[in-house]
Formats: sequence, C-alpha cells, structure tokens
Amino acid sequence: MSISRLARSIEPSPTFALNEEARLLRERGEPVVNMGIGEPRNKAPITAILSSAARLSGGEIKYTPPDGLPSLKKAIIRYTEESYDRYVAPENVIVSAGAKQSLFNILFSILNPQDEVIVLAPHWVSYPEMIRMVYGIPVVIAPEDGTFQPRMQDIERATSSYTKAIIVNSPNNPSGAVYPPGFIAEIVDYCERKKIYLIMDDIYHKLVFDGKKAAPAYQFTDKNIEETMVITVNGVAKLYGMTGFRIGWAVANRKLVEVMSNVQAQTTSCTSVVLQSAAEGALTGMQSVVENLRLSFENNRNVIMQELSTFNGIKTIKPDGTFYCLPDFRAYSTNSVELAKFLLHRALVVTVPGKEFGMEGYLRLSFAGSVKDITTAIERIKWALDPSSPNEIYIGDRKMIRDWL
Ligand code: PMP
Repeated sequence: MSISRLARSIEPSPTFALNEEARLLRERGEPVVNMGIGEPRNKAPITAILSSAARLSGGEIKYTPPDGLPSLKKAIIRYTEESYDRYVAPENVIVSAGAKQSLFNILFSILNPQDEVIVLAPHWVSYPEMIRMVYGIPVVIAPEDGTFQPRMQDIERATSSYTKAIIVNSPNNPSGAVYPPGFIAEIVDYCERKKIYLIMDDIYHKLVFDGKKAAPAYQFTDKNIEETMVITVNGVAKLYGMTGFRIGWAVANRKLVEVMSNVQAQTTSCTSVVLQSAAEGALTGMQSVVENLRLSFENNRNVIMQELSTFNGIKTIKPDGTFYCLPDFRAYSTNSVELAKFLLHRALVVTVPGKEFGMEGYLRLSFAGSVKDITTAIERIKWALDPSSPNEIYIGDRKMIRDWL
C-alpha cells in the first residue's frame, strides 16, 4: 500500500489516542478518571437545540454557501462587534467545521512550501502538524524559563524572510496562561510592521478568571479589517460547550476569506446547515450559558490548585483561563509520555504528556470535569507517585498495587 511521505509523517492526535485507551479500559469496567479531555460536560444550550431541531423538522436540509449560512454570519458579525468592538462585513467572515478547520484553511491559504510559522510553546498539539500538512515549517519558541510566557526578543530572533505568520493562543491550551496586554500590543505592532499574519486563536477568550480579560489583538491596531494582519479564529466548542457541533469561524480581510471560501468549496462544500443553525441559535440565545461555564471552570480551577498545593514535588503555575493546567512533574520523571502511561495504568487517571505541547516533563490536566473527578484524580496521582504512600489501595472494588515508575 502506498502512502505519501507527508501523510505518513503526521503524528496521531495524542489526546484522541489516550481517550481511546481510556474508553477501552472503562469498557472493561475500570473506574478511569479522565483528566485528559478538552471539553466541557454541559448539555448544549437549549436555543442551539431548538434552532437545529427547527431546521431538521422543516426538512430543507441543503447546501449553504461555502463561507456559511448568511444568518449565522450575521450573528458572528454581531459577536465580533460585541466582543471586539470591530465592525466587519459578511465578506470578512467564513464558517468552517470547527476552529480546527478554520486554522487549517488559513494556513493552507497563506503558506507557500517552506514558509515558516512561529508557534509559541506551550502550544496546542495541532499547530505544528497542520503547518507541516501544508508543506510549511513550524518554528517553535520556548517560553521564558519557569514561566509560560514567550519573549518578544525570542520571536524577533526566530523571524526570517520566510516567516508568514505567528499563531497566538491566549488563554492558552495547555497552560491556561493569559498573555499580558503589553505583550499582545507588542506582537500586534511587530506583525503589522513586518507584514506577518497574526493568527489569534481566541477559542478560549471568554473563559478567563478572577475578573481578568484576554486582551483582544484588534484593540492594538488602528488599521481597518482589510489592512490589518490580525486574523481571529473562534468557535462554539469551548464558548458554549458545543464541541460535537463542529462549528468555528475566521474573521479576516476579504481577499483571504475569498480564497478560503474557494478552498472550502472545493473540499467540503460547506459545513452542515443543521449544525450552522445550532451555532446561530447559541449565538443569538441567552449568553448566561457562557458565564455559567466560566464560573464553573473558575471554581474547578480553585479546587485543582488547592489539591495540587498539597502535592510536594510538583510545581503548578495558576491558570488564568481555559480549563487546563500544566504542572511541572520533572521531579518525578522527565519522560512525560512514560509518566502519562504509568498514571493511566497504575492510577487509572488520563493525563496528556507535556511533550506533545513542547513542554517535556509536564502533564496537562483538564479540569473540565466534576469537582469529584478532580479530587479523585489528584488523590490517585499523589498515591501513585509519593514514595510514602501505602502499597495498596482499593479503587471501588479494584485493588491497586503500587508500583515504581
Ligand atoms: N484551538 C485550540 C487552542 C483548541 O484547544 C481547540 C480544541 N481543542 C481548537 C482550536 C479546535 O476547536 P474546534 O473544536 O472548534 O475545532
């Protein structure tokens, strides 16, 4: 069987792989706690359900324009106005199958082979793979030691004549870090001057804690939407906990949106009208759903920080947003893949190895689950790693024997 060199080189998504392993263990009756998954547990907002149900029962389930259902685009324009104080036209908006496809289509549309894209570690696992899929080169920048904060001088040093874009994700998956406004201002100014696209992956921008706010890049440019290098990506997955609806969008200059629409028209035609209707329902419905999610994640963040504070040896920087934290486990192991496997099999807890995010020795823990999940998981991890733990415990009626890493 012949498979292309490029396709063969694309890494499997580690999060999906671990989830699958956890699912199989659970199917065998193992009481696995999933701290790996990146999705809220809430039910979809009722306005999303009603809107898609109305579309279904009307029976008119047809193609939409490749760039999206006009009424959904209208709702996105209003969202952009309310969230970013930016007025954009329908020609500046394109709807895709999740923020993931928006990002892929942006990269496909702006990169020539061998062009470079700067990615700031810790980074979402898919960025480097997507860049490579369109024959680009990911240039990963490490954060300042002991922080999750990238430095402008490192970005400047990594820029070359091939640099086409920088991807910024704040609040950040996997660290939960929110970059300070001063940094966003600097990077916007830098990209505008150098004519480098600044791709703002704002998928978590409403999930920020302690009264803080994620500084929107648009705030720091006076260029209009046709001239700015800023592109924003958003979606309903994290905003409303609608991961399975697969609706995301990009806001950019109209030339780029036109090219992306052509790409979409020739690949997927459009995203499903039923799911676009659901997204429209969510965007035009009660927005208290977003605040409720945010509040529950802030509470969970406080619980996990409290639990982790009693865990000698690991260091955790308090996340300011998202539903992830990224503790430093190097005191126990510098091989995060081995450590995640050990914790899955020995403590029945799913975590995600930091290696996948450019942070070897760290583990990403999602606190999107219940408070009980969090306290149980941290208790089990402590048991598995602390040398003074009892040699055996019962998890339900399952006897667990302590083993060494
Ligand atoms: N960007 C980041 C940083 C994410 O964490 C995710 C989802 N895990 C996405 C994009 C993709 O979102 P969607 O589900 O809308 O494709």
